[in-house]
Amino acid sequence: MARKIGSRYTAHQILGRGSAGTVWLGEGPDGPVAIKMLREDLASDQELVGRFVQERTALLSLDHPRVVGVHDLVVDGNDLALVMDLVRGTDLRTRLDREKRLAPEAAVAIAADIADALAAAHAAGIVHRDVKPENVLLDMEGPLGPGGAHPALLTDFGIAKLIDTPRRTRATKIIGTPDYLAPEIIEGLPPRAAVDIYALATVLYELLAGFTPFGGGHPGAILRRHVTETVVPLPGIPDELWQLLIQCLAKAPASRLRASELGARLRELAPMLAGMAPLDVHDPDEADEPGEGDEPGAGPAAEQPRSAAPKSAEAATPRRGAVSLVPGAASADSNRDTHTSMRVPAPDELAGGARGTARAPRATGARRPGSARNRHPARRRRITLGVVGLVVAAAVGGGVWAATSSGSDETPPTDSNNSAPEIP
Ligand code: ADP
Ligand code: MG
Repeated sequence: MARKIGSRYTAHQILGRGSAGTVWLGEGPDGPVAIKMLREDLASDQELVGRFVQERTALLSLDHPRVVGVHDLVVDGNDLALVMDLVRGTDLRTRLDREKRLAPEAAVAIAADIADALAAAHAAGIVHRDVKPENVLLDMEGPLGPGGAHPALLTDFGIAKLIDTPRRTRATKIIGTPDYLAPEIIEGLPPRAAVDIYALATVLYELLAGFTPFGGGHPGAILRRHVTETVVPLPGIPDELWQLLIQCLAKAPASRLRASELGARLRELAPMLAGMAPLDVHDPDEADEPGEGDEPGAGPAAEQPRSAAPKSAEAATPRRGAVSLVPGAASADSNRDTHTSMRVPAPDELAGGARGTARAPRATGARRPGSARNRHPARRRRITLGVVGLVVAAAVGGGVWAATSSGSDETPPTDSNNSAPEIP
């Protein structure tokens, strides 16, 4: 059923639902467009709408082949719509879910595209703040690039900033998605361009490995790992690629590459990776093979493996990497877009009192080499996240988290269904 949006656009059919709203296939004066209708509660927030309009000029001026361009912002009665380039394809999360791991050449080509998009944004003074596979769209109508990768485009610029309003999350400390959050954000520093580089390196790691370097378990545990844990090498990864990854996953923002340099270095690497099969990495989210011990001392609150029935009593042992931040707290499933709130942890718990380490990847069939912490003694830095404590609550849902020191006035979001249909 067609629906008029402002005087210039018509929305025809729903393409997908995200955390911030519903995306429609639409028509404008210059042809087909994608129209994101912001969620009602966001659109009815006058302060937020004002901010949106303020951002308008910056968003509209961002014109790059690897950025999903914003054509228009329409305020129509109670509706707030973002008119964007229509990308005919799917998002990177959908491809990753389907393929589990990408061939290094394809992974690097996609990351290089996103690095180029970020270079353009950063040059314009715009920090994305929510780089993740859900926000990368693959243009299936574009030419096939290295390793069978379609052109990748970065979308949702400005959305994270938009929702980060003082009213929405009082005394906001963190806006973002736990798995991709740079350590400096967790420590309360303002997000600068380097946070996007960290998030992109996390995405590249995920494309190669099938899981993120610090994900797993309770969101609070994920945050802590970003700050304290060292990323563990992926078996079989070419050294040049690994060096690039760890440089961009550096805890210190200044040590990371800039987007333009990262894009160039990734493209230089691509020919070397041609024809290489996806890495043969054991997925820590899958049940262990029988006979393998688990990390000693995983707490009683730790989770059971999420997938595959336990093959043995040992496999049923609670797993490392899936622990709650606070001993005794109910553990939430590791999820990029869960909506949970967290009990306030004590400073010593944040400083490493809770168990759990970065997930140590292994080649399939290889024995567990020991915990990441054992091999890379992590500096137990004290995280000062809040005066009263830390409450992590969903800010607008869909995997964007807000950690605040004085709480959030949000009601839990109900729409976490980030469906991603392929556009005909
Ligand atoms: P949110 O960021 O609010 O969670 P998304 O941007 O992920 O929402 O949009 C929801 C769905 O709509 C996605 O699965 C995506 O496939 C689709 N979509 C989003 N933007 C576009 C676009 N510009 N062109 C085509 N499809 C899009
Ligand atoms: Mg999005």
